[in-house]
Amino acid sequence: MRTEGDLQDKLLNKMHVDENGCWIWEGSRCRNYGTLYHKGLTIGAHRLSYEAFNGPIAKGLLVCHSCDVPSCINPDHLWLGTQKENMQDCSKKGRGNHSAETKRKIRIARTGKPRGTYKKTIDLGYQ
Ligand SMILES: [Zn+2]
Repeated sequence: MRTEGDLQDKLLNKMHVDENGCWIWEGSRCRNYGTLYHKGLTIGAHRLSYEAFNGPIAKGLLVCHSCDVPSCINPDHLWLGTQKENMQDCSKKGRGNHSAETKRKIRIARTGKPRGTYKKTIDLGYQ
């Protein structure tokens, strides 16, 4: 049976430490985030690392990076936050400055409503 120690070994064998102290994941990646096939699922390497070294992640929480390096799996650089906190963290770091066009896309993506639904608002708002 797998133990947490095995998982720690698995993670430690596939990363290197960079000059900032980040543990850069060397395995497969998806959108810059390290991924790992574990117990039949592909899971974010940073999430697994958090669980292996820091403990379980409560349901619905995200594992965020204090170092802003998506492929980093250093448990000291990882913290648990809600989606909202993660967004706030992003905007504090200046990453949340979406253009009007991006905001519109995000809104559509979130609500799942088709493009046309917002046409009136957009025409009024941005012309
Ligand atoms: Zn890091």
